[in-house]
Amino acid sequence: MQQQQNQHDVIIIGAGAAGLMCAISAGQRQRNVLILDHARKAGNKIMVSGGGRCNFTNYYVEPNRYLSRNPHFCKSALSRYTQWDFIALVDKHGLPYHEKEEGQLFSDNKSKAILDMMLQEVSDAGARIRLKTEVLGIEQLPEDAAPYRYQLTVEQNGLKETLQCQSLVIATGGLSMPTMGASGFGYQIAEQFGLAVLPRSAALVPFTLQPEEKTLTEPLSGLSTPATLTCTPAKGSKNDKGKPREGMSFTGSLLFTHRGLSGPAVLQISSYWQSGDTLEIDLIPGLDLDEHLKELRQIRPKVELKTVLGEHLPARLAKALCEHWFDNTTMSELSNAKIEEIADKVHRWQPKISGTEGYRTAEVTLGGIDTDELSSKTMEAKKAPGLYFIGEVVDVSGHLGGFNFQWAWSSGWVAGEVV
Ligand SMILES: Cc1cc2nc3c(=O)[nH]c(=O)nc-3n(C[C@H](O)[C@H](O)[C@H](O)COP(=O)(O)OP(=O)(O)OC[C@H]3O[C@@H](n4cnc5c(N)ncnc54)[C@H](O)[C@@H]3O)c2cc1C
Repeated sequence: MQQQQNQHDVIIIGAGAAGLMCAISAGQRQRNVLILDHARKAGNKIMVSGGGRCNFTNYYVEPNRYLSRNPHFCKSALSRYTQWDFIALVDKHGLPYHEKEEGQLFSDNKSKAILDMMLQEVSDAGARIRLKTEVLGIEQLPEDAAPYRYQLTVEQNGLKETLQCQSLVIATGGLSMPTMGASGFGYQIAEQFGLAVLPRSAALVPFTLQPEEKTLTEPLSGLSTPATLTCTPAKGSKNDKGKPREGMSFTGSLLFTHRGLSGPAVLQISSYWQSGDTLEIDLIPGLDLDEHLKELRQIRPKVELKTVLGEHLPARLAKALCEHWFDNTTMSELSNAKIEEIADKVHRWQPKISGTEGYRTAEVTLGGIDTDELSSKTMEAKKAPGLYFIGEVVDVSGHLGGFNFQWAWSSGWVAGEVV
C-alpha cells in the first residue's frame, strides 16, 4: 500500500537521547521514521550534560545503579544495548573520550560532538526531525485504518495538520529543567491511554538548608570536600510496596553552595532522600577522629584544634568549624568529653535540610510511567498496542555517572528494533 505524505511507520515524540537512539535503530531497519519535538533544537540535554562534556555512559553499568519500583525492569534493555555498544558507536565516529572516575566516560570534546554524532546517525538511518512542532492531541485509529494505529494533530508555525503512524513512541523525558523543553506531556499521554503513572520527584538535585545552617555554609560557597553521606529513612517510612525503606550511603565530593549543599555525593543521595528522613554527613570519612585527637593531645599538646582539623579538611572549612561549632583551643585544653563531642559532630553532622532545589536544577525525575504497564523487552504499552515509552519518562532513574544516558540509549534502541 502506498504511504501518504502524512503517514509514517513510526512517529517519535521527543528528540532527546532516547528518541534519537530509537530513530537510529528503527531507521536502520528501513522504517520510515519521523521525530517531532516542540523545542527549537534537538538534544538540548545532551548539550548541557556532564558539565558540557557529556558523561555518555559508564564502564560499570549494572541494574543496581537504577531506581525503579521494579528493579528488574531495566535488565533486559540494558543487556541488549550495552555500554559497549554505545562505546563502539563513539569509536566508529573517532570521537575521543576519557574515564573520569568510577567508570564515568566523558567526551574529550564538547557535548556537541556526541549530539552531532547522534544527529549524523539519525540522518544516515533516513529518519527525519521536525522541530518547533506542538502535538495538540493523539487518538487511536479504528481497526479499519490498519496498519495505522495512531493519529496526531500537530501545529507548526501556526499551521495545523494530522499525521498517522503505525507505532508511536513517547520519548518526552522527565520534568527537570523546564527551560530546556521538559514537559509533563508523556505522563498525560500515558494517562489518556489508561496507564498508571507513579508519583514523580526531582532527583540528582542539590539540597537547600534551613537559615540557621547557612551561617556556616554560605561563606563556604564554592568549597568542596570529600564526605560520606548517609540517608536514614524516617521511622516507619514505607516504600511504594509497603515495605520499610532502606537507608543509603554515598562517598564522594560535597560542595557548599549559596543555597545549601551540592556535589556528586549530595546529588546521589538526593535520589533516596525524602522529607522527614535524616541526612548524616561524615566530613572526615576513614579517620577515627576521637582516637586521633586523643593521641594528638599527648604528642602535640600545644597545637590548635583548627590546625589539626585543617590537616584533614580544607583550611577554610576547618576554620569555619572552629568559629561556628567548636572553640579553637589547644589540644591540651580538650577534655575527653569535648573530643567525643567534636568527633561526633564531624563524623555525624545532621544538617537541617529545608528541601531540594526542585526541577529547576534537578538532573532527572524519579518515578514516571509504571513499568508494570510496559514490556521490558520492547517498551510497548501492554494496554495500547503500538504505543511505546522510552527514556526518562519511564519509572527508571539512574545514579549520577552516565547511567541515565545509558538507559536512554538502551531503552530507545530496543524499542527501535520492534516499532
Ligand atoms: C544539566 C543536566 C546534566 C545532565 N548530565 C548527564 C550526564 O552527563 N550523563 C547522564 O547519563 N545523564 C545526564 N543527565 C540526565 C540526562 O540528560 C537525561 O536522563 C536524558 O537526557 C533523558 O533522555 P530522554 O530522551 O528520555 O529525555 P530528554 O533528553 O529530556 O528529551 C526529551 C525531549 O522531548 C521533548 N519534549 C518534551 N515535551 C514535549 C512535547 N510536549 N512535545 C514535543 N516534544 C517534547 C524535549 O524538548 C526533549 O527534546 C543530565 C541532565 C541534566 C538536566
